[in-house]
Amino acid sequence: MSKHAILLILLIALSCANSCTAILAVPPDTDSGIDPILNSPRNPFAIHPNDYLSERNFSSLLVEVDYISGCVPSESALFGLKQILEKYCAKPDGIRVALNDEIPLPDSWAGTEDEITALSEKYKNLPVQTGTARAYIIYVPDIKFAQSKWGELWGYSCPERGFICISSNRIQSSAFMYMTAEKIEKRVLVHEFGHLLGLISNPFHQTMADHCVNPDCVMCKDFDRVFMANFVEIVLTGNTPDDYCEECRKDLDKYKLLKVLPPFSH
Ligand SMILES: [Zn+2]
Ligand SMILES: [Zn+2]
Repeated sequence: MSKHAILLILLIALSCANSCTAILAVPPDTDSGIDPILNSPRNPFAIHPNDYLSERNFSSLLVEVDYISGCVPSESALFGLKQILEKYCAKPDGIRVALNDEIPLPDSWAGTEDEITALSEKYKNLPVQTGTARAYIIYVPDIKFAQSKWGELWGYSCPERGFICISSNRIQSSAFMYMTAEKIEKRVLVHEFGHLLGLISNPFHQTMADHCVNPDCVMCKDFDRVFMANFVEIVLTGNTPDDYCEECRKDLDKYKLLKVLPPFSH
């Protein structure tokens, strides 16, 4: 097994991009018990890391998962994400990761961001009670952003919309030896959800634009350093770091307390 081959595999959980712009939040209507903003077809979410991490505005969390035919999410990967969310998100009324719609493959699938956004707006349909935060994940065959600075993507996220997209084909084709597609998928999910949780916004352990400098962190994107730091583990088990590092955890603790991301000082 060449270093090059392993490095290619490592790209899985390390490759992603973030986009989207912040949209103003609108207070929910509490009369009906159903949140009109979170349930509107073109819901902008405008959700903040604090909304996921603390129970101040939302005491429970619903993660809706849809997939295009042939891109069925792995149960173990989704369970792994749920475990991470239960570890970091204070939701006394529960966290639910719900596999929902199977979406027919569009006739002219191109994998563009506009196409993916349109599909997600059409199929994002689980009703959300007032007091429940929502995130939305869609699995697609592939993602083809013409101007992606990261090259071909395994996934990407739009934190302000609570949105994650996962490239199923990219993950499946990257499985290698002990590094199964399920392990890769879990790492991509945890990585992308890390962006929804505000990671990483701290310039003091940040590198490569919004990614962690620590090669033992799931938020690290520096392929060579992750490979070198975890060589034996990767070769023997196929495991790569799939949790947030100590510095990222400290940031999550801050975001849990603050509605606005803090100005960092060191
Ligand atoms: Zn990322
Ligand atoms: Zn980290």
